[in-house]
Amino acid sequence: MDPTPISWRGLMVTKAMHQLLHSVSWGPLDVLFLDLPPGTGDVQLTINQEVVVDGAVVVTTPQDIALRDAVRGFGLFSRMDIPVLGMVRNMAFFACPQCGHQTRIFSHGEHHHHNSEDWGAVAECKRLGVDFLGDIPLDARVCEDADRGVPTVVSEESDDRSARRQAFLGVAEQVAKKVGLQW
Ligand SMILES: [Zn+2]
Repeated sequence: MDPTPISWRGLMVTKAMHQLLHSVSWGPLDVLFLDLPPGTGDVQLTINQEVVVDGAVVVTTPQDIALRDAVRGFGLFSRMDIPVLGMVRNMAFFACPQCGHQTRIFSHGEHHHHNSEDWGAVAECKRLGVDFLGDIPLDARVCEDADRGVPTVVSEESDDRSARRQAFLGVAEQVAKKVGLQW
């Protein structure tokens, strides 16, 4: 793997996005997901100029600083008239592989709030009138699945009780319904 970083700016980003959207042989797609880094810039603006976007899903982590970035993302999308489909909280908790105990390792504010549902991302979503789509756990198996190129929903398909699998499916179902896909 070549460790040299590539830095894309301005016109290069615009050109690369144009090629990605129009020159790639995508084949028949139900949906095209663009996974973007945090930030509010050229890429989002270019995408909105090149294609009709059904909506944006904003992903945060539990830290205050991540949530502030996510809220800025809402502002950007609404200025571009892109509907915000909702917010997902990634790395919401660590699930111990030995005993299954869930620890909210990034949620320092949790200690001050008896009801964690009323704190952080969920509260911000209520305030902004945006749907909170769900929590994704921080779990070594999710990382392993990603490294193997096999999404957790597929690798654990045979296990209906898999909490990891259900976490992804719960988010996917809501997004699918919002953009008019069959579920
Ligand atoms: Zn444990």
